[in-house]
Formats: sequence, C-alpha cells, structure tokens
Amino acid sequence: MAKKKVFVISHSHWDREWYMPFEKHHLRLVKLMDEVLDLIDTDPKFNSFQLDGQAIIIDDYLAVRPENKDRVAKAIKNGKLRVGPFYVLQDDFLISPESHVKDFQIGRQTAEKYGQMMGIGYFPDTFGNMGQTPQMLRLAGLDAVAFGRGVKPTGLNNQVSESAFESSFSEMNWIGPDQSQVLGILFANWYSNGNEIPVDRQEAKQYWTEKLADVEKYASTDNLLMMNGVDHQPVQKDVMKALEVAQELFPDYEFIHSNFDDYLAAVKADLPKNLSTINGELTSQETDGWYTLTNTASSRIYLKQKNAEVQRKLINEATQLAAVALPKAEYPHDQLTYAWKLLLENHIHDSITGCSVDEVHREMMTRFEKVEAVAESIRDDAQTALADQVKTDQFPEGSQPFVVINPSDTAKTGIITAEVELDRALFKDGRPDAQFAKMQLIAQQNRHYAVIAADGRQVVGRVTGYTTHFGADLPEDRFRVPYIGVYAQVEVYVKDLPAFSWQALALQQLTTPKMYADQTAESLISDGRILENNLLKVEISAVDGSLTILDKKTNHTYHRMAVYEDTGDMGNEYIYKETADQKRIYSTDQAPTIHIKEDSAKRGVIEVVSTLQIPCQATPQLDYEQRAVIDITHRQATRSQETVALTLHTFITLEADSSALKFDVTYDNQALDHRLRVLFPTELEATTNEAESVFEVVQRPNVPEKYWENPTNPQRQQAFVNLHDEKVGVTLANDGLPEYEILPKDGTIALTMLRCVGELGDWGYFLTPEAQCQGAQHASFALIFHDETTADRLQSYQVARTLYLPILTVTTSRHQGTCSAEGTWLEVNADEQAFAVTGVERDQASDLIVRGYNLDSQAHNIDVQVADQKGELVDFQSQHLSETTAPLKAAEIRNYRFK
Ligand SMILES: [Zn+2]
Repeated sequence: MAKKKVFVISHSHWDREWYMPFEKHHLRLVKLMDEVLDLIDTDPKFNSFQLDGQAIIIDDYLAVRPENKDRVAKAIKNGKLRVGPFYVLQDDFLISPESHVKDFQIGRQTAEKYGQMMGIGYFPDTFGNMGQTPQMLRLAGLDAVAFGRGVKPTGLNNQVSESAFESSFSEMNWIGPDQSQVLGILFANWYSNGNEIPVDRQEAKQYWTEKLADVEKYASTDNLLMMNGVDHQPVQKDVMKALEVAQELFPDYEFIHSNFDDYLAAVKADLPKNLSTINGELTSQETDGWYTLTNTASSRIYLKQKNAEVQRKLINEATQLAAVALPKAEYPHDQLTYAWKLLLENHIHDSITGCSVDEVHREMMTRFEKVEAVAESIRDDAQTALADQVKTDQFPEGSQPFVVINPSDTAKTGIITAEVELDRALFKDGRPDAQFAKMQLIAQQNRHYAVIAADGRQVVGRVTGYTTHFGADLPEDRFRVPYIGVYAQVEVYVKDLPAFSWQALALQQLTTPKMYADQTAESLISDGRILENNLLKVEISAVDGSLTILDKKTNHTYHRMAVYEDTGDMGNEYIYKETADQKRIYSTDQAPTIHIKEDSAKRGVIEVVSTLQIPCQATPQLDYEQRAVIDITHRQATRSQETVALTLHTFITLEADSSALKFDVTYDNQALDHRLRVLFPTELEATTNEAESVFEVVQRPNVPEKYWENPTNPQRQQAFVNLHDEKVGVTLANDGLPEYEILPKDGTIALTMLRCVGELGDWGYFLTPEAQCQGAQHASFALIFHDETTADRLQSYQVARTLYLPILTVTTSRHQGTCSAEGTWLEVNADEQAFAVTGVERDQASDLIVRGYNLDSQAHNIDVQVADQKGELVDFQSQHLSETTAPLKAAEIRNYRFK
C-alpha cells in the first residue's frame, strides 16, 4: 500500500491591519519577509512560503526594502514564494462585484510581474463565502478554492449528509447558481492545523498523533494538508528539521514540505467519487448562528456608506466615462489601477467589515478620500470631453448649453439639479473684488429663463436661484486661470431619460417671466401629511408617524411601515448581542411632528420628526464583561435607566411618475451600546427573500436551519432586499446599509441604520470608542413596489440598484460636435430587463469591456451593442470565450468585449 502523504505548507495569515494599526503590523511583516528570504537562501530543502493569497504583501515589503526587489522576484520565479491569486484578502459580501474583479486582475498582474501566480482561489478567513465564487473563479482561470468558513464538515465517522451546507470530507464539489463547479478545500481543522511543529521527539510524537488523526478524519484522499502557520505567525525556521523528526517517528507516512500547486495536483489525481456537493453561498447556515460574523455588516456604518459612494464614483462615473468619452489612447489605465489598489486596501476582511481598532478605520477614511479625489478628477475630465463632442450649436445664440449624463443602466425619471455657469470674470481682467461685484450684479438681476432641448422645445425646468463664486481653470499647457463665475441653480424634470445616455439642454433667457408646468397649482401633497402620485398614495400617521402605503398598481395597502426600533447592544464589532433586559424603544411610542418641506407638481417632500427617549448606554456590567473578556453569549449587561433623546428627522420624498418612495434620515447620536433599525412589516406570506449579493440575486430562507440558536438572523445585501408573494412585492433599496433581517412573523424587513459598540471583540480586549458612532449620522433608503410579474419585480431591482447613482451635469459652450445632441453609448436589451451592468471599462489592450450579470434564475434573450457592434464574450482576463448569440443563462456573469 502506498504511504499517505503529508503536505506541509509554510505560510502566515497576514491581516494587514486589525487589532493594531497598519504600520505596527507592517513592521512585523518586514521582519517576517526578511526571515523568509534568508531561509530560502540558506536552506535549499525549504520548498516555499505561501504569501497568504494576497500579492499586496510584495508591495508592502518592497515599500520598506526596495533594495530586495530582485531577491523577491527571484524567489517568486523559482517558486520559493507563492503569490496571488488576489491582490488583497477581501471581504466577500461588503464590496462591489467590480472590486472582486479588480482584486483578481491586479492580483494576477502583480504576481506575474515577478513570476507566476498561485493556482488556487484562497479565502482562508472571509466571513462566509459568496455564492458566485465558483463562476467567478472559473472566469479568473481557476478551478479550485481553499476556504475556512461556511461549511460544516461532518467527518468520516458521520453519515453523509443530505444538506447543501455540510460535507463529509474536507474536499467537496462546490456548485454556483449558474452550475459552474470548482473543487472546494475546506480548512476543516482551520488554516493552522500544522502550526509550530515540534522538533523534540517526545513532543513531536504527541503532536503528530493528534494532528494526523484530526486531518485524516476529514481527508478524502491519502494526501493530507497541514498548514504550517496562523495569524501573523513568524516563519518556522526549523520546519525542515521538524519534518525529518516526523519522518523518523512515522515511517508509514511521507512528509513533504510543499505548496498548494503540488498539493492540488496530488489531490485532484486521487479524488473519490463520493464527494459531497455544496451549493451557492456558504454562510455557516448549519451552525448555532453566533459566530457567522455577519454583524460586521453594521459595524461602523459610516465606512459602508462612504464605500458605496466612492465605488459609484470610481466605477460608474470615472471608469465608465473615461472608457466611452476619452480617446482610446488617453484611457488612464495607471491612474485607475492606482485608485483601485488604494480602494482594495479598504476592502480587506478586517477593514471594510469595521472590526479593527480606531486608527485602522481613521486611515481608511483618508484612503476613501484619496480614491474619491482620483475618481472625481478622471470623471470631470471625461465628462468635459463628452460635452465637447456633443453638438450644441443648434441652440440659439446667447443661450447657455449644458449636458446631462445618465451613467446608470436604468432609464431615469425625476428631478435633476444642475449648476449652470452663466458668465465669468477673469482675475487677469480686473481686481478680484471688482470681478466679484460685477458677477454679483448679474446674480441680482431679475432674469427669466426657460430650459430648452436641442429641437427648441421647452422642457419642464426652472432656475431656483443664483450663486457667485470663485473658480479656476487648470489648463494642461498654460498657467492656471482664476475667475469669479456666476451660476444658475437649475432643476429639470426628466421622464425616462435613457440608460447610458447624454442629452444637451440649454438655458434660454426670456424677456418676460413664464409660467412653467411645475409652477402651477398642482401638488403631490394633501392634508399636510399625504403624498400621492399616479402610482402610490402614502399617508403619514399623525398619531405615531408610521406610514400607510397604497400601491395603486396592485391595489394593495401596506400598514405601519417605516417604524424605528432601538435596542441595546452588549456585543462587539463582529456580533450583535441584545442586552439581557431586551428593552426596546419604538418611534411609534410618541406622536411625531410633521412639516411640508417641498411642494411642487413634480416633487413633494415631507419631514417627520420622531423623538425616541433611549437609554444613554449599557450598565457598568458591560465594562466588566469586556475587561474580563467574557464571551458575548455569556454576558448579562442591561441598558441604563438614564435616557437621552434620539431625534430622527425623516425626509420622505415622492416624485411624479416615480414608483420609488425615498427616505433620507438625519440625526445626532448621543447614546452608546445600541442598535437602530427601521422596520417595514409587509405582512406578506413568503418563506424566502431575495437580496442582491455579488453578481447574484440570492434567495434565502426567512427561517434559519434547525441548529440556529442566535435569536437574530442577520444577512448581507448590496443594493436591495425583496419580499414578495404570488401577487405583490416590496423591494427595499439602500445607500450603503448592508445589514438586514427578515422577521418571519409578520414579514418584516428590518434594515440596520446604526450599530454602536465599544470593543473589537474576538480574541482579546481592544477598546473601539469610535465604533460607538457618536454625532451626526444619516441614512438613505427607499421602497419600490411591484406586481406579480417577473418583469416588474426585476424592474424594481434595477431601480434599486441605480437609485443612488446621480445624473451628472456639465456646463458647455455652443459648438460643433461629432455626437448628436442626445444619444447613448451602450444598448442593453435583455428580456425582462434581466441583465444588470456592473461595470464598463477598457482592458489592457484598451478594448471596451461591458460586464454584468443575470438578475434572474431563468435564462433570457439578450442583445448588447456598442455602436452597432455585438462584441464577443471574454473572461476576467479578456481571453476569448465565445460569441454572444447564446441566451443569457440563469445567474450568468458576462464580460462583453468590443474591439
Ligand atoms: Zn484574517
């Protein structure tokens, strides 16, 4: 009989920033890398060191020791350092699909710059695994994945389970919603099962007896995987000596210092037929529910909100507009890669999750601002380039043209605002204060304007005011040109502004004031507390502030919607744990005050002010429980008797012809140790919900599996969550609020707005006062209602996905142009609007790439065109896959390439 092989892989799981700030971990990383390189040089038998699946380690090391670049490159080339496949070890659920693609692409580029990439997907520590992982890995050229969480291994002595989330072996087949399949390798004994191997014979005997039994319990083949390392573990310098000792003590095994590529080849050659098959997302469904770490989705909500905003600016605005508006040769490849590398630093599984110390998250906010500045610069250049190409000389002389741009994949209806420059006075022509006075004079004139389209027809719009302020042009070939400009603040109502489109409009001065459609007596508000358009009727209760909403399309009424709930939280950045008293405060406990904020024919805004008297913080018991490092499941703290006012200002907006009811909430949080949610009791009878995840609309059960003990069942979402029965449904959109929970009793969708905790949690005592999120807060979300048809449900998903992506506007001159006054740069026609576009960019060869996924679990016909071209289908590396004629498969991810 052949000997069992023990593959020992040396590694260190490198949380780049976590319970210490980045630089403190960084300096330890430099030490680790110095030692690894020395070991590689001095011990030829040392097979290799695995750099934790993340190529950023190379950049971080060389930032301190640039002189070691050749040594590192040589080690990678010789297979002594195993790098990639990712740039960072990301969080799965809290970052955009495009972020995942960039993580693959930049990881591969970084690895291949020096040598070759490790050939396995690597998710040792992610807090659950996204369902599209198999398809995404296939599109990244990988067919196997190692991961640490999400599946319950049952072991050889147990019966093979029928469950989709259990596996009898550490190896399994993992199938995604599109039926893509990869080989999954679970770290059934964690990624530290071969850490600190003793050299001492007696210790080694005991160590291996135990460890070999553990690994054999789950292994499906005679190839046993031992991971020699753990979190921030220094390299074991005498590992080769330790393996010699092991070989002497256990001659029936063959001990091999190895790497993932070799281990994988051996496992694949020996796989048995009876592997378990697991399906879709893996979020520890078969556990007691306490340690899924899902509540990281509500830790430091401000990070998630900023991330949503910055992702939109980088992906939908800067990258897309640069791809379609700039000449091919001017596409800013390097600048975008620079921005993506910075943003990916924030997308690591201890960073965007908000489960690190305060210094880490402070640095993240600076990174977000840097990425935002790069994105805004690229966007501004690109939208100016687009406006320059649009023909505007058909507008009358003396009119002021401007271009509106819809960068989203959904037609938009509603009011857009623009700042349109009317005139400017240059500093070179006069003293600044004199120029300011000149422009102010224009601003104070009683002018009258109409908003006109290119064909001269008047569109619904108006000037709401004027401003005068400093500005400066920064020409590429001359010195800066400062000036004072005068600007009109313009509101334009657009109806069905096409997806991926531009349209030139102009302000035309009139001699006499004119009545516009939106200045008539029409109103969307009645009785001071009812909002109504042709699709919805919304009544705000004067008694408790909750909403009664009639969806006119289905004639279905929803009651007691938008109620705020405040509960105590004695948990940590990872886990919500309600205080033992279960003291809950609701906005419906008191009458609100209600004010009309805006009342026009096209938009109504009502402000509801609700005051909740909530406990200031938890009792001192919590402080003791934190210092004594008592696990959250054993805590007994309650909420204090002392209270503080939490005053929520909810601005409820309804626009003409819009199916979306928007909520924008502002408040000042002065309480500690609590969680704030908004509740929508839909009373729909549904056993599942649908939510946007990564490249996927995932269907999840509303009631957890039988082992679940955690009284809450939090879930993560991208842009929306939906509940529907056979007749009607509700889609709840959010702007950077990724945590929701379905309360099955009355079909409530609960959306977390804020969670305030004072400690990191996990393995020690780390205080995090800034995770209490004190001071000014905001939250934005919206309800979209749909009927029984798939088309209407998917339409609500598309509206939700693009609700917070603004329409851009840019002032331009009257000029000739190569583009007509209105048009589109991309045509997407899928049955039932099933194709969601996640990104438009240029690949390394500067070909145009359009990426997206099927929102539906059914196949659909689809046609995607750029300038009458149909393109071809490629993978994440832009390698040809097939032609585009086949229907879009269920849950398929597609990359279209246009030469
Ligand atoms: Zn980690």
